[in-house]
Amino acid sequence: MAKKPTNEEHCSFCGRPASQSGMLLSGLNGYICADCARQAGQIFAEHGKKASQDFVLQQGDIPRPAEIKAFLDQYVIGQDDAKRVLSVAVYNHYKRLKYNSEHGDKNDVEIEKSNIVMVGETGTGKTLLARTIARLLKVPFCIADATTLTEAGYVGDDVENVLVRLLQAAEYDVASCERGIVFIDEIDKIARKSENPSITRDVSGEGVQQALLKLLEGAEVNVPPEGGRKHPEQKLIKINTRNILFICGGAFDGIERAIGARLNSNVIGFKGDETRQQLDRENMLQYVQPMDLKKFGLIPELVGRFPVLTYLQPLDREALRRILTEPKNALVKQYVELFKMDEVELHFTPEALDLVVDRAVEYHLGARGLRSIMEGIMTDLMFDLPQMEKGSTYTVTCEVAEAKMKL
Ligand code: ADP
Repeated sequence: MAKKPTNEEHCSFCGRPASQSGMLLSGLNGYICADCARQAGQIFAEHGKKASQDFVLQQGDIPRPAEIKAFLDQYVIGQDDAKRVLSVAVYNHYKRLKYNSEHGDKNDVEIEKSNIVMVGETGTGKTLLARTIARLLKVPFCIADATTLTEAGYVGDDVENVLVRLLQAAEYDVASCERGIVFIDEIDKIARKSENPSITRDVSGEGVQQALLKLLEGAEVNVPPEGGRKHPEQKLIKINTRNILFICGGAFDGIERAIGARLNSNVIGFKGDETRQQLDRENMLQYVQPMDLKKFGLIPELVGRFPVLTYLQPLDREALRRILTEPKNALVKQYVELFKMDEVELHFTPEALDLVVDRAVEYHLGARGLRSIMEGIMTDLMFDLPQMEKGSTYTVTCEVAEAKMKL
């Protein structure tokens, strides 16, 4: 407690008498002055930061691939192949961090970064996977949209601004930012238009790919802390991207054709009709190879920086149906919680949920559409919710859903 200092009392830390140090706080057996208390606060804060930086470096704290996958399973339906590939890549990424921190610069073996590309239709869970991984690892995470990026000097975002977002996500803690995960969406939109290098400048495509290369391979990059364009008087923060994990996602519309063409020519050359028939024509993405990305218009250097390539399945009816109710934060669970807060028990009949899925399939909206369809049904109900009788039960039947959808 604060005490009016008397001349005999001293700060137990610096020894100064109350007459010099001013107010003293008393403990059970001693006193502390304002200066020492402030200093102690700083030491605790520094220690806390250091502990968070060390988090991933303790072997016990690195989740194993099976654990990472089990965690992903709670939030993401299906996509087993992608989950397995991501789990291993992330596991290796953190082992690599540990290896580098233990061996310093005297590494005999250089363990390379495992940047990842995920190919899959929009709304199949690419962002969700990346976001869920970041949640598990408790590292800063940001999402950038490749379509907004342009080469330095052109209208649009400089590529470095991707790191600004990560820095913001890390609350400006540079060390934590340097271990973060960046998800770059729509990477396919910066493909160059033809496979041949362009003669004219390709501001939004190849130029951006070249600029991204620098970030991916691990460089010291100066970023303006507030974002925007760099200008000479601005204070810049130096960020080393060596340990930042980049995950990219893209729909790569039409890449199936390149995959099909490659497989067909291979098959003819080797095993003939038998293997060709075994191909799953409905889902050609599962055969995607780095060379297909090149064919699509990513420059070879960039493709080379993404050693891990995986794909996502299109979501079928069954997957959509499961997405409504099974994930930890499934839509249905969210609405149930919202109703619970108004003391109303909410139920959906299976037929009502089937109807929602029917609509999502009909509109070709994938999982993204489930939310807007549900919202269409629930908005009116939520408007009336506060007036509903406390302790009552409300069931969304097929008829209710149909009526609300028509509005
Ligand atoms: P993408 O990045 O592939 O375009 P998102 O990950 O942003 O798609 O998915 C959009 C929304 O759809 C997510 O917020 C999530 O609610 C839902 N979703 C998509 N795929 C899945 C999935 N496999 N499991 C659970 N939810 C999914």
